[in-house]
Amino acid sequence: MVRIPEATVDDIRQNTDIVDIISQYLQLRKSGQNHFAHCPFHEDKTPSFSVNDQKQIFYCFSCGRGGNVFSFLREIEGLTYPEAIIKAAELINYPLDENLVSQVANQQNYDDSTTGKLYSINQLAKAFYHHILVNTQIGKPALDYLLDRGMTKETIKEFELGFSPPQRNALYMYFNSQKDVEFDTETYENSGLFSTNSSPESDEFLDRFSNRIIFPLHNERGNTIGFSGRVFEENKNSYPTAKYLNTPETPLFNKSKVIYNFDKAKAAIRRENEAIFFEGYMDVISAWQSGVKNAVASMGTSLTEDQIKSIDRFTDHIVLAFDGDDAGNDAIKRSVDYLADHTHFNLEVVTFPTGLDPDDYIQKHGKQQFFEFLTHGRDTHMSFLMQYHKRDKNLANESEQITYIDEVLEELTKVDSLVEREIYLSQLSEEFNLSLDTLKSQFETVINVAQTKQLNEMKQQQRIHQNEVPSLQVSYQDKPKFSLVEQAERMLLSRLFYDEEAWIALNKIDSDFHFNNEDHQLIYILFESYREDDLELTNTEGFLDYLQDDHLKKKVAEIFLINLGDLKDGEIDDYVHVIKNISPVKETIAQKTEELKEAQRQGNTSKQSSLAIEIINLNKKLKNKQ
Ligand SMILES: [Zn+2]
Repeated sequence: MVRIPEATVDDIRQNTDIVDIISQYLQLRKSGQNHFAHCPFHEDKTPSFSVNDQKQIFYCFSCGRGGNVFSFLREIEGLTYPEAIIKAAELINYPLDENLVSQVANQQNYDDSTTGKLYSINQLAKAFYHHILVNTQIGKPALDYLLDRGMTKETIKEFELGFSPPQRNALYMYFNSQKDVEFDTETYENSGLFSTNSSPESDEFLDRFSNRIIFPLHNERGNTIGFSGRVFEENKNSYPTAKYLNTPETPLFNKSKVIYNFDKAKAAIRRENEAIFFEGYMDVISAWQSGVKNAVASMGTSLTEDQIKSIDRFTDHIVLAFDGDDAGNDAIKRSVDYLADHTHFNLEVVTFPTGLDPDDYIQKHGKQQFFEFLTHGRDTHMSFLMQYHKRDKNLANESEQITYIDEVLEELTKVDSLVEREIYLSQLSEEFNLSLDTLKSQFETVINVAQTKQLNEMKQQQRIHQNEVPSLQVSYQDKPKFSLVEQAERMLLSRLFYDEEAWIALNKIDSDFHFNNEDHQLIYILFESYREDDLELTNTEGFLDYLQDDHLKKKVAEIFLINLGDLKDGEIDDYVHVIKNISPVKETIAQKTEELKEAQRQGNTSKQSSLAIEIINLNKKLKNKQ
């Protein structure tokens, strides 16, 4: 594992301003001591994401993510810890040893966990397939095929394309021949690399992708998580089978989450502030070769919520560039509907001439013209929809005309901009020689119908919620986030983080102090050893880097944000008193009793009885303890 020297890490941290860095990703607004933004890691209605200048940390009050500048970069860019340090260095133009940078970039050091082993086996399979394609006789027909299609050797290397030999046990034999790695049966079975009917009789595992061109699939961080195998001309006839075969669902691979080429494209997506979605891998690769670096593809399905979320962190502009055939149009229509209904994305559509997918287009017309078409051949999603609804209609026929106009008006209800609505209405009016006023009043009717429908749906939903029997869940939601003891423990930790005096006071009261909450106790012990090197607490925030566990990091970051002002006399005694003398069970009983009173006032009988049962059980628990 490549290690970046501690002194370098410290130096980078000291030269980095978290507000500066995060501002490059989010729009921050200052309020009091903190800066706020909508959290980039989930759908966030109120700005719950806060950044603290002084302490150089961030924390989200809604999802609990938190940490320092490195943790932020890790999370938002999907990086490893060393990668995040290098990213921070890049962002502040900090000069780093080039060797170190490339070492970190090349390191694929996976641990011995189940997922670690799966990453390793995928990584090794990718290297094997690539070697077969570019260096062997067996791979030559596949290589020739790719070169014939206009792919250069550099591109093949860049995308690490491969070929799986027809001999179905080749991959398994290759793994077995490797001296320094050994995989257990479970790893073979969970890898998705082998055919399910391989074992156990044959006691050899047979390659699932045999005799196919291999497209490695990566997660956002660039780790290999699966493959897509494609049949090619040479063997198409001998194999009556699907054109593409993907890795099945595995612990690493989930089709609905993967975006092809996202690992390479995300920087360009942010730079260009748009993501171009193509239908196929070959399209993405050809586009890349033509200089379009912000190209990605979904996995042969329409866009999913998970994919949208990933893209959303980098841009709010999506271009759908699909084949102009029926299947392509339908795929765009599905994606446009989904995106327009559920997201705030700006949408544009590029439809390639019928029969040509983008890859064919490049081969036929060349890079330059492809680039032109991609940039200037765009439609707004509304004009795409207008074209779409024209398909299969004979507009000379009056009744089909009316159907068409109704469909377009219906789509237009989803357009928020009044100016845009105006434009499309006048287009319709010109095209069908209708007065604009007639169209407008027709549109009003459509809008009213749509709104009434929406209102009814909302009412319906409300009725469903009203009929729901209040469950125990509801009473949990009313509960304050922290109990009194937890709160006292957090405040004590906060003092210990920032105040030497607090350590002295605590030692006087109880030299063998224990926290009730296990996490708090663990944080306490770890901070004690962290503090050995820095007794004056000059770099408390560095503790975040010292911690390995993400769960603890979040807790600590949250405590860092507590602001207690100056230490008061007897304050530490008070915390210790609360922590030692209030039993958590007693406290819960008191809380539940309050909730019970409230439920009685509201006349909520089912809540009353569930709370009563809880209180009886808690009392039993208390008796057993004594
Ligand atoms: Zn959040």
